[in-house]
Amino acid sequence: MQYTCDVPKMIKSIDRSQRGPHLIPGTNYIATIKAQAGCSNINWLAAVYKGFGKEEGAIAAIGSCPSVGIVGYSLGGGLGDTSPISGYALDLVTEYEMVLHDGSIVTASENQNEDLYWANRGGGGGNGVITSLTFKVVQSPTPEAFTYLFFEVQQEYSEWLVLFQNFLSDNAESYRFGGSISGTSPSLVCLSTAEECVQILTDAGLMDQKVFSRPGESSSELRFIRDYEYICGPEDEFPSCQGPINLFLGSHITQFRTQGEVQALITCNYWLTLSKGPSAVTARGADICVDLGIDDEHCTEDYFYGFNGIKDCSKKDVIDAILEKGSDSRSFMSRHGNDVNADLTILGGTPGAGQSNTHKAGGFVLPRLEDETIRKIVSTSPAANIGNHLVHGASHMVAKDATAMPWRNAVFNTAEVFGDNKDVIEILLRDKSIRNDPTKIQGYYSYIGPASLPNWERFYFGDNVSRLQEIKAQWDPTGLFDKPMQISGTNTDLSTDGRASKKVSKKGSKGNLSEKLSKKVSKSKKEKGPNERN
Ligand SMILES: Cc1cc2nc3c(=O)[nH]c(=O)nc-3n(C[C@H](O)[C@H](O)[C@H](O)COP(=O)(O)OP(=O)(O)OC[C@H]3O[C@@H](n4cnc5c(N)ncnc54)[C@H](O)[C@@H]3O)c2cc1C
Repeated sequence: MQYTCDVPKMIKSIDRSQRGPHLIPGTNYIATIKAQAGCSNINWLAAVYKGFGKEEGAIAAIGSCPSVGIVGYSLGGGLGDTSPISGYALDLVTEYEMVLHDGSIVTASENQNEDLYWANRGGGGGNGVITSLTFKVVQSPTPEAFTYLFFEVQQEYSEWLVLFQNFLSDNAESYRFGGSISGTSPSLVCLSTAEECVQILTDAGLMDQKVFSRPGESSSELRFIRDYEYICGPEDEFPSCQGPINLFLGSHITQFRTQGEVQALITCNYWLTLSKGPSAVTARGADICVDLGIDDEHCTEDYFYGFNGIKDCSKKDVIDAILEKGSDSRSFMSRHGNDVNADLTILGGTPGAGQSNTHKAGGFVLPRLEDETIRKIVSTSPAANIGNHLVHGASHMVAKDATAMPWRNAVFNTAEVFGDNKDVIEILLRDKSIRNDPTKIQGYYSYIGPASLPNWERFYFGDNVSRLQEIKAQWDPTGLFDKPMQISGTNTDLSTDGRASKKVSKKGSKGNLSEKLSKKVSKSKKEKGPNERN
């Protein structure tokens, strides 16, 4: 599929006459860019990187995996490190070209086939084959300064997370901060200089020294690189860090002039090193230096199930090579390679590895939670992965019914593992935003759960279900594009058939979300009769 992406053509499609205010007051989009349906996230990033000057501060609102296709990503949402300024990726789409069930070709936009345009934006698809889409390109408020901050909260993580949620929800500058939290390590992309980013976090009380050092230690390593040059670092090797940066102990701070370079760095850290265990998820061969076409000196000699990894992702040769390979739709960057986790499981390796298909609820997009809920979740399961993506900011500026994506109040997106933890779900259900009503939990369609999830239509699409059904019935009357867990116009009751409910109620457990929803569905069926919708 990715072979149909033509990155040079994408660059040629850039239309700077299309510009205007974006969702956060004071922010703007500066152009549109058109992509073939076969383009991946890394192709989009590379096209924007190459197609705009550094001074333009252009942003491609990609997610965290280079090989994810832009269509599936944006049909179900689209969350990444710049979502707080961009919104969901679907919020950026101005036009779709589509082939319908009868072979006709249509455009869906704000002015043409508006209902189809509405449904594509967050409805999960199923109305036709999308052949191209056009995205707005949002401009950073501080062009030429994109900063990546990685650090570990060593103490009192739950209090830090409570403060962080307050910051994301209330601080006027928080839209500059996107990213994720893995375990107790935030990994943030900030749209400004390193100094300003650190100052904003310091002013918000998020930089208390005790957070960064382990009990008994006075400081830990700090490393600051700007435009590929070490500005300061461990004192025996580099000048010591000064000013606000110096407060940010234990962190790695890297500032670049473009978003492309920052995202390439993150892509490398996440997918192309050995530090996280699974390496080279996107690599075709076992040798990542060969795949990237860079000198062997950049790669480790350690082999992990036959893979090596990049030693230092902040090197210019490495970043350049990732963006160059990202511009070539036939390169390995647009395709999943071997999943080392899965291999380990097959080989009887690390417990828990390779089990991503066992999750029971998919991902959530959580509204602001009570402070106490956060504390309890963290103390019950520190690795619950509440902050898989940050969703505050721009996505809140769109009405619940303006697109098919109804969730317009979220602060955190959770990874699938969060919904599998029954203790965490029990705590979440008691939060005042949920009030023990599992149907109030907001599902994230791009991180879809299993087909046995009952009442999934409301879980993903909320009050927009019936409009999606009407549009589907009108545009795909024969159900040609039906598939499991996609809104259907001909059979609207695909999952709430009681099968899952019976299975679950036999077990008598009240733990995970799937079970909670089953109970709710069984109960409402009893009240309403089996053929009425929820
Ligand atoms: C490793 C990994 C990392 C991820 N990271 C993120 C992330 O950071 N943020 C995020 O939001 N999501 C993320 N996702 C989830 C991802 O957005 C979804 O899995 C998405 O559905 C993938 O889309 P695709 O086009 O690559 O996949 P596909 O399986 O090709 O498509 C998914 C669905 O989209 C529809 N579709 C695809 N192409 C077309 C078309 N041309 N016309 C009509 N319908 C079409 C179809 O219904 C299809 O079943 C990640 C997924 C993976 C595997």
